[in-house]
This record gives sequence, structure tokens and C-alpha cells, in this order.
Amino acid sequence: MTADPVRSILIAGGGTAGWMAAAALSKLLAQHHCRITLVESDEIGTVGVGEATIPPIQLFNKLLGVDEREFVAATQGTFKLGIEFVGWRREGQRYFHPFGRYGDDFGPTAFHQHWLRARALGNTTPLDAWSLNHQAAYRDRFEIPTPQSPRVFSTFSWAYHFDASLYARYLRCLAEARGVERIEGWIADVVLRPGDGFVDHIILADGRTLAADLFLDCTGFRGLLTEALGTGYDDWTRWLPCDRALAVPCARTGDPEPFTRSTARTAGWQWRIPLQHRTGNGHVYCSGAISADEAAATLLANLAGAREGDPRLLRFTTGRRRKAWHRNVVALGLASGFLEPLESTSIHLIQTGISKLLSWFPDRHCDPRLADEYNRQADAEMEAIRDFLVLHYWANERDEPFWRQCAAMTIPDSLAAKVAMFRANGRLIERPHDLFHEASWLAVLLGQGVDPAAHDPLADTLAPQELAAVLAGMCQVIDQAAAAMPSHQAFIDRHCRAG
Ligand code: FAD
Repeated sequence: MTADPVRSILIAGGGTAGWMAAAALSKLLAQHHCRITLVESDEIGTVGVGEATIPPIQLFNKLLGVDEREFVAATQGTFKLGIEFVGWRREGQRYFHPFGRYGDDFGPTAFHQHWLRARALGNTTPLDAWSLNHQAAYRDRFEIPTPQSPRVFSTFSWAYHFDASLYARYLRCLAEARGVERIEGWIADVVLRPGDGFVDHIILADGRTLAADLFLDCTGFRGLLTEALGTGYDDWTRWLPCDRALAVPCARTGDPEPFTRSTARTAGWQWRIPLQHRTGNGHVYCSGAISADEAAATLLANLAGAREGDPRLLRFTTGRRRKAWHRNVVALGLASGFLEPLESTSIHLIQTGISKLLSWFPDRHCDPRLADEYNRQADAEMEAIRDFLVLHYWANERDEPFWRQCAAMTIPDSLAAKVAMFRANGRLIERPHDLFHEASWLAVLLGQGVDPAAHDPLADTLAPQELAAVLAGMCQVIDQAAAAMPSHQAFIDRHCRAG
């Protein structure tokens, strides 16, 4: 029997979430004769802060047929090899979360287990020496590997910093070229169908009505359609206490570094994101611990260049909608919940939301079993990211009241189990919906001072001299590969210079 197919999709909101959905669905549903309309209000505008990303965004761009160099140029973008965390464990200390892997696995266990053993035998070289991402980042070097690049590049990975409003504009061009209709208007009301409670139509401030079979709520923190369905919100402030951000760009003062910097402050942290035309800065903080004036003073005292405008205040509650998909409404982006931007995961969650929607795409009746599965997967993804973020706050030795409170919190059981296993023998528990894998957890666990007491016994196979020789050889190959790359700025100038 033929299902009753979805013939019309209405995307409410045109921020990064709305235009990512419009660009992807217009491409992937091209054969399905489905009308896609996006409504947004110029008057309301977008959050438009999302400037840092993680490597899977490459897949999303590839899916859309986006040329990487053209996209970086069009969004004033730069390349991102990881995040430098300054002062997170304690004042004066820093560590790097690289996107690529450490070393190359050999023998029956993970690379870092051999490193742990070598350390126990007296080798004092830090794990960073076996990260091509780290070695390139701290020399300000970058290149996109080609099929001819040395094998060590298989451990290399990158993402981007970009101007989020330019990214939305870029995606809008793609979506409109594929037939998406854009309507400018202020959504004033959401009308539910009697009986099943599905959204029937929305009403714009000028009286126009817009109906559809399926609605995507991309209206940002407002979550207009999701709110109308009253699905509720899980508040995670007890684990992630920051609830405000002040954002301000400043002029560029030098060549852009190929990494994001995150610096711990008295009651939160400050980001620094280098773009081609400016540097993005922001201070994420806990309003219960410091005032907005103190937060602004801290931010402005720590800018590298002349600021462009006044800091913009954003309020948020970390957590998630209880049902990102309910009836015929799927919430994407900020409308579905928010995990603070510490590991640049929000744009990624939009991407996975779109991909899950395509996996569980409904007909017009929106079988609730599809929504249940979507929500189960979305919950697991967000919980895995939440645990990773909580680790940064909890495992600290800083002395301010805010940080002492973070160190004293009761962490989720899932995180406690991971930390306990790592402390015992350096092994990392992976769960099916983990976004961050071994290298990421290793970097943050070790960086925050969580140290294993022992290593995997399977790492004891090589003789000590043999182990030392293998590790030294790898280290040399990585060092040479990083040294041979062009500077990050030279790569941008040659391949992706913004016009
Ligand atoms: P928005 O950008 O808020 O867009 C909402 C849209 O809905 C707009 O078009 C608006 O006009 C429309 N709208 C709302 N109400 C109405 C109405 N009544 N009528 C008509 N239209 C309406 N993510 C990352 O991946 N990396 C980062 O580094 C990062 N940094 C961040 C820093 C901060 C401080 C914050 C708050 C977020 C950050 N994010 C980051 C998240 C990122 O900004 C968002 O996930 C992303 O921009 C998607 O936003 P959105 O499209 O859901 O919402």
C-alpha cells in the first residue's frame, strides 16, 4: 500500500538551523515532489554566533556538493585543528584537544596504552608529540592532505571557524536555487488541529496563514512551535551552570591561528575564534556567580584587538526539549535545546538532527514510533556530549568559589563510570552515540589531571628498547610532516582567500 507522503514542509526560522535544513532537504528530497518553504523574520534576526565547528561538518558540506575552498572563502573562514584550553585545570596550565588521532595503533592495544607504558618506564615526552594536529597547530601550519600525502595524514583531521551569518547566506543561495521558497514574516500564532493536536498552520503578523504536512521548528531559543505543543524542557544547569554569554568581535591583530582558544575565567570561560576578517570573542559565564558588568569588564580587558561594537548579551538554559520531535513538529538547532559552546557542538547537532530526520522520515500521519526512535537517539547524543562538557568543569583544581562548586558536583553516573575506568587502567568506555572518541577524551582527561594508575597489560608485549624505537620513529615522522606544511595563512592566501 502506498503511504500518504509528505507533500509540504514548512521551516520556521532562517538561522543556521533553518538554512542547513532547507539546503539539505531540497537536495535530498528533490525526487519527492515536496514543497519546501522557509519563513523568517528580518526584524528578529538570528543568534549567528556559531563560529567554530567540528570535523563532521565536512560530511554535511560534501553531501550538499559544497566546494571546501569556495565555502571557506565565502564565509571568511579559517581552519581549525582543535581547541586550546587555558587555565581550565588550574591557572597557568594549558592543554590541547586535537581533532586527529594520537600516533598509530600497533600491537594488540590502543596507541596511548603504549605511551602510558613508556611513561611508566621513564619516557617524559608528552602525548602531544604524537599528534599531527597538535604539532601543526602550534606551528601555525595547515594543509589539506591529498591522496599522495604521507600515511601519517590518516591521523589528521580538521574543521572550520566561520562567520555563521555568511554560512546561512551561502546555504540560502543553494536552497533557493533548488526551489525553496523564502517568506519574510513574523510568526504571530501557531494553530493546532482539533483532535490529534498536530500543528495545522501558523499565522503571520500580517494575517497570512501558512499550512504544511510537516513543520521544522528552527525559531531558535524561542522554540515557537515546540512550545505550542508543550513538550517540556530538561534543565541541566546543575551540571553545566553557565547561563549567559557576552559576544563581541574585534579586529584581527595577526595571522589567524588554526585553533580555537578557550580560557577559564573566574566564573566561566572566554572564547577566541580567529576568522579571516576579524576575531570572534565571547565570555560564557554563570549569572549566579558574577554580574553582567563584571563579565563584560573581564571580556573587554582580554581582547587582543580593537573591539567592533558593544558586547551582545545572550541568555540560555543548558538542557534539552523533552521531545525534539512531537506529532508533526521536529525542532532543530537552539529550538531543540542548548549545550553551551565549549566544544562547538551545536551546529553539529543540527546536522545530526537533519540526518536522523531523513533516516526516520515520516508520511503525513507521523507515526509516533518514528518520533520515539528519533528522540531516543537525540537524547543519547546529547547526554554523551553533556558528559564530555561536564568533565571540563568538574575535574578542575582552580580556587574560585564557582570552580570549587563545580569540582564538588555529583556528576552523571555515565561520566563517573568512564572516569573510574580510565583512572584504573587508561581504558576508555565508548558508547554507541558518543560524538567524541578516544583522542578527545584522552586530551581532556589528561589535560584536566585525571591520570591512569596503570596501563593495559596487552601493551607489555614489546621489549622496552623496541617500544622506545617505535615511539621515537613515529614522533619523528609527525614532526617532519608538520614542519613541511605551509603556514595556515599561506594556505588560505593560496586557496581560500575571501574576496
Ligand atoms: P537562530 O540563529 O536564533 O535563528 C532563529 C531564526 O528564527 C531566525 O531566523 C529568526 O528570525 C527566526 N524567528 C524566531 N522567532 C520568529 C518569529 N516569531 N517569526 C519569524 N521568525 C522567527 N554553535 C556552534 O556549533 N559553534 C559555536 O562556536 C557556537 N557558539 C555559540 C555561542 C553562543 C553564545 C551561543 C548562544 C550559541 C553558539 N552556538 C555555537 C550555537 C549556534 O549559534 C546555533 O546552534 C546556530 O546558530 C543555530 O541557531 P538557530 O538557527 O537554531 O537559531
